[in-house]
Amino acid sequence: MDKFKEECGVFGIWNHLEAANMSYLGLYALQHRGQEGCGIASLYNGELLIKKGLGLVADNFNEESLEKLKGSASIGHVRYSTTQAHDLCDVQPLVASFQGSFLALSHNGNLTNAATLRKKLEAEGALFQSQSDSEIFIHLIAKSKKESFREKFAEALSHVEGAYSLILMTKRGLLVARDPQGFRPLSLAKLGSAYVVASETCAFDLMGATYIRDIEEGEVLDIQDGGLQSFRSLKAQPRNCIFEYVYFARPDSSIFGQNVYAVRKELGRRLAIEHPVEADVVVPVPDSGVPAAIGYSQTSGIPYDMGIIRNHYVGRTFIEPKQSIRHFGVKVKLNAVESVIRGKRVVIIDDSIVRGTTSQKIIKMLRNAGAQEVHLRISSSPTTHSCFYGIDTPTRQELIASSHNVEEIRKYITADSLAYLSLEGMRRAAQYPKKTFCTACFDGNYPTQVSN
Ligand code: AMP
Repeated sequence: MDKFKEECGVFGIWNHLEAANMSYLGLYALQHRGQEGCGIASLYNGELLIKKGLGLVADNFNEESLEKLKGSASIGHVRYSTTQAHDLCDVQPLVASFQGSFLALSHNGNLTNAATLRKKLEAEGALFQSQSDSEIFIHLIAKSKKESFREKFAEALSHVEGAYSLILMTKRGLLVARDPQGFRPLSLAKLGSAYVVASETCAFDLMGATYIRDIEEGEVLDIQDGGLQSFRSLKAQPRNCIFEYVYFARPDSSIFGQNVYAVRKELGRRLAIEHPVEADVVVPVPDSGVPAAIGYSQTSGIPYDMGIIRNHYVGRTFIEPKQSIRHFGVKVKLNAVESVIRGKRVVIIDDSIVRGTTSQKIIKMLRNAGAQEVHLRISSSPTTHSCFYGIDTPTRQELIASSHNVEEIRKYITADSLAYLSLEGMRRAAQYPKKTFCTACFDGNYPTQVSN
């Protein structure tokens, strides 16, 4: 299995006077989906203009650089990668010359047959410029013998397996595609006469665009000056990523047909019913545990309070690739409020346990702040398997729940009690059976072939 894993956010806009500015706003709203690199490409008088950089959107773009990205169409990308990804050539949009013109591509998701396809393409003479799965699309398009560009694109899609929410920009328009399972979200909106596409609807809110609908599973959208055409060459087999609801997406976004905040609160409500506990206060691990803690508190009747405060000027600890920084990070990021905690039986709510490091440190911190009892409730099931579709989970060996049962994990993190929401509870909160989900990180049930 290819170890190159990326978390990303994508954005695209067609037919807007300030296209690159809108991309900047869109990426700003999607920054939580990746903080390691970002890029914006624009189309001006048939030429492609591009700026990419390592780090945050706000640190890479200013008025001057956006001024240079002229044109009425633009795509953008934010990313985080687990591998040696401090390299600008892996930062998207990826760009290629093609039949005297160009194409630019922003991709969210990981392909599960990337290693096989890459090997095959290389054996046929393709020279890859990056480590990223996303470049495979470009080589497949270039290789296709089909007549029209649209057909070439559709043929390329028929060869790949796994997750892609994809925006491709050429001189003639945007081609937008979502894989048949629709692992990652992708939505469409209108801003005046412009069409806008983004990973999450929070990007639309920032620029005042009106949400139209989600790009469907297996759908391809062809956006041109003349308007919008939808076609589909791959059969939809919906398996939306349930972890987007649990942790990854922004709570103010609506994805897969539902508001993320509402689903998170419902996860917390169900957690309170499945795993009640006698306690004095419900405390969230901020920010990821907040909506579930509110739900838990409302259903259990135990008062909610902010017993842990987050320093918002520290990046997400998990995102730091080095082990040493991650350990340090929990203390830097979170601190207990003694006046809330001292002498109390505390229920803390978090969305997930990955390695167990965060929970262990938080519980120690709460005991130091005078907690009488600490009960941990998790608003998802034990994370037992790695994700191969675009969420950055570590290898199975590193996931504490892949080799320890709940009681062993409780001992490790030193909680008085520990309980996770059942998979069925998660599915119900996310409105199964109306929607079908990928739950592979919780049950190892991968919708496509993976070798892990
Ligand atoms: P750990 O300390 O390894 O157990 O990490 C658990 C914490 O990581 C929880 O507070 C989660 O909110 C957070 N988390 C879970 N999945 C991810 C992810 N893919 N990226 C960043 N943080 C995550």
